[in-house]
Amino acid sequence: MSARLLSLQAVDKRYASVTALSGIELELGAGQGLAILGPNGAGKSTLLRIMAGLAHPTGGKVQFAEGAPQRSRVGYLGHATLLYPELTARENLVFAGRLYGVEDPGARADQLLADEGLSGVANRRARGFSRGMAQRLSIARARVHAPELLLLDEPFTGLDEPSAQRLSLRLEGLAHEGHALVLATHEIDRAARLAQTALVLVEGMVKRRVNAEEMSEPFLRTAYAEALEASP
Ligand code: ADP
Ligand code: MG
Repeated sequence: MSARLLSLQAVDKRYASVTALSGIELELGAGQGLAILGPNGAGKSTLLRIMAGLAHPTGGKVQFAEGAPQRSRVGYLGHATLLYPELTARENLVFAGRLYGVEDPGARADQLLADEGLSGVANRRARGFSRGMAQRLSIARARVHAPELLLLDEPFTGLDEPSAQRLSLRLEGLAHEGHALVLATHEIDRAARLAQTALVLVEGMVKRRVNAEEMSEPFLRTAYAEALEASP
């Protein structure tokens, strides 16, 4: 087991009358992949936002391993794009780099564009990008400050199959380079490829955990179906 990067203990999140999360326990090792599965409204996005430090739990604890502050360690890709449509791809990355206090934002932008296969469209406005290109630029943006953990909220949604496949391979590459990944998704096959462990959220609670020894696509599919069936 790699060194622990992040742990959540008894995390609750309530919004007025809605309990979005209840009693969440989880641990993530450095460089590990965790898939979060669950139907709409299960609390996946809320959980990712809490890990990103964008939302605060109403109960429990979120703890990162000793080291740099949370903001510098986490890259977040949410449902809503953080890209500015009127800026070019490169300008978006330079701008994000400045926000994060990256040392040489221009050089970092060029590096990220190359990593994501976007050097050829560096000077085009994000507005004209296909969903697949925008998602690659969003990954670049999430990585601008070289975070060790990437939080990806349904990154495949809205992509055609070739773009989803390309993104999946890219995420495998990032995992291989040592990034920890937390992936909220409905896509069990992709989850099984990218994550060593998984949890199934239903109505804000962890209904099932799949560990590294168990992880395979068929096992995950069955575990997910069972967790949904067992819920009212
Ligand atoms: P998922 O991503 O699994 O679809 P969410 O985390 O978006 O689930 O939502 C979990 C629950 O919390 C839902 O019932 C949702 O309506 C509620 N919720 C999420 N965000 C808010 C908010 N800002 N205010 C009120 N309720 C919210
Ligand atoms: Mg969601």
